[in-house]
Amino acid sequence: RNYKRQMRCRCDIERLNAPFLAIVESLIPAEEEKAKQNQLLTLLEKLICREWPEARLYLYGSCANSFGFSNSDIDLCLAIGDADINKSEILIKLADILQSDNLQNVQALTRARVPIVKLMDPVTGISCDICINNVLAVVNTRLLRDYARIDARLRQLAFIVKHWAKSRGVNETYQGTLSSYAYVLMCIHFLQQRKPAILPCLQGMEATYSVTIDNVECAYFDQVEMLRDFGSRNRETVAQLVWEFFNYWAYRHDYTDSVVSVRTGNIISKRAKDWTRRVGNDRHLICIEDPFEVSHDLGRVVDKYSIKVLREEFERAADILQYDPNPCVKLFEPY
Ligand code: ATP
Ligand code: MG
Repeated sequence: RNYKRQMRCRCDIERLNAPFLAIVESLIPAEEEKAKQNQLLTLLEKLICREWPEARLYLYGSCANSFGFSNSDIDLCLAIGDADINKSEILIKLADILQSDNLQNVQALTRARVPIVKLMDPVTGISCDICINNVLAVVNTRLLRDYARIDARLRQLAFIVKHWAKSRGVNETYQGTLSSYAYVLMCIHFLQQRKPAILPCLQGMEATYSVTIDNVECAYFDQVEMLRDFGSRNRETVAQLVWEFFNYWAYRHDYTDSVVSVRTGNIISKRAKDWTRRVGNDRHLICIEDPFEVSHDLGRVVDKYSIKVLREEFERAADILQYDPNPCVKLFEPY
């Protein structure tokens, strides 16, 4: 009987596949948007090069990791070789330069956790944030992008999860919920854990790419064209994966002892990381290890209130997928 019930459930879930793919399709940025981003990047490079000829400007975050929705802001990193520069000074100077070139809403936020200059380009209509020397973010962006190139289901799953998180208000780090970066890592880890696996563990393979940034060695196998068939033995569709993903985070994840680790492709224990108790503001109520900065828990923003909110949202999503007559609408209903 159980078997029969599960079969029925599986083919019901299967019917959600086409609507989910249509949602993903509607969120993918158009080609012309990429062209506009490049146009803005070229302009900014030109302005920056006049003042700092050695500096380089990198795209990072969702506009470069392939998990970006259409019309999202772009994240840029200005890499100025010198390690002991005064970031505030640079940001203020940068803001001056940009302001005098007709860019709009230019603001230097020098006291933010990650200090940035914000601006809006009236020609392309694109808003962007520029940070200084955050090269680790450029490298983790590259890792995420490379994972996305291995199996199309990662991007599909992550788009649905991000869209759900934004609709439900659980993608706000300043309110104690998770960043998009954390959600994408959860998706990668989840696909590494499928049986058969849909994604490999790139950091567990022979390194073909390696850089050292701020004393952190970032190394992984990046010849991902060779891995295009990696997940082909697993036939699960995005609908099944979405259903399993929410079930995992609602009912199966061990919140007391597990750490999700893309670096190892496995669950590791909180004890092994010494993440069993609150240290300062880090409570470790949901643990997601940064793939390169391994002492960094992306769940550290989550507090005793927001963990409840998050877990209730995971349960809501799992239950909707299981029982609701119209899950593709209900799942994304504004909170
Ligand atoms: P969105 O579409 O919501 O803007 P995003 O991919 O730009 O998504 P963010 O969470 O805004 O995601 O983060 C932007 C980038 O900053 C990430 O891709 C990552 O490179 C870096 N980043 C964000 N949070 C962290 C963090 N806690 N530790 C290290 N890097 C981070
Ligand atoms: Mg972003």
